[in-house]
Amino acid sequence: MKMKISKNNNISQPLKLKHVPLRTCIACRQTAGKRELIRLVCSDAGVEVDIKGRKPGRGVYLCAKRKCWENGLKGNRIEFGLRTKLSADNRQSLLEYGKALPEKEEQ
Ligand SMILES: [Zn+2]
Repeated sequence: MKMKISKNNNISQPLKLKHVPLRTCIACRQTAGKRELIRLVCSDAGVEVDIKGRKPGRGVYLCAKRKCWENGLKGNRIEFGLRTKLSADNRQSLLEYGKALPEKEEQ
C-alpha cells in the first residue's frame, strides 16, 4: 500500500535531436558532425587516419583543416586522447597528411 513518489526520479533532461553524433576537434575544440571531422585511430602500426571512420579502437577527431592538424599534432593532445605514444615518424606522416588539407574550411 505504500506509494512513494520520488520527485527526483524524473530529472528533466532536454531532449536533443540525436541524429547527428557530434565530435570534438582536439585542436580547436569545435564540435561538428562526425562526417565533417577526420578520425585518427590507434592501431598496431601507430596512429593512423581512419578515412571511413569505421576502424575499431579509440579515436580522436580533427577538422579537415590544415591549421587544426598543425595545432593538434603539437604537444601531446593526440597521445593523450588515444592514450598512446606517437613516434616522431608517425607524427611527421600525420603532419604530411594535414598539409594536403585545405588551409581554411571550404564552405
Ligand atoms: Zn578543429
